[in-house]
Amino acid sequence: MIIVCPSCSAKNRVPKEKLDSQPSCGQCHQGLIPLTPIELNEQNFSHFISNSDLPILVDLWAEWCGPCKMMAPHFAETAKHNPYVVFAKIDTEANPRLSGAFNVRSIPTLVLMKKTKEVARISGVLRANQLQEWLDQQLNTPE
Ligand SMILES: [Zn+2]
Repeated sequence: MIIVCPSCSAKNRVPKEKLDSQPSCGQCHQGLIPLTPIELNEQNFSHFISNSDLPILVDLWAEWCGPCKMMAPHFAETAKHNPYVVFAKIDTEANPRLSGAFNVRSIPTLVLMKKTKEVARISGVLRANQLQEWLDQQLNTPE
């Protein structure tokens, strides 16, 4: 499968069975499967989602948003336990065109994407256990 490097955006082909052995990027040698949320923006977003074979969970947030800050540690905590989902944060203030494209009405909003397709979204603050439960439900739903 193809994994886009979160550090340098290079596309890496990784056999599925190698996903567990912490594959690193052929270009920059950083880990391909970070256990912390990555930052996406208007420059790298479409390259990332259109090439990554892993599902991506996007957290749409803003600096001024108290609930977003409350949720941030829960989002990061959940990322640690889900190596096969890319956890990504998008700052809606810095990326108005992206947040417009997502048609964001309130933040925090989480959007789960597989390739360029939105498969689920949820708004409001979630604790780590609630987020995990929601994510499990979405990932186990047949398309
Ligand atoms: Zn890289």
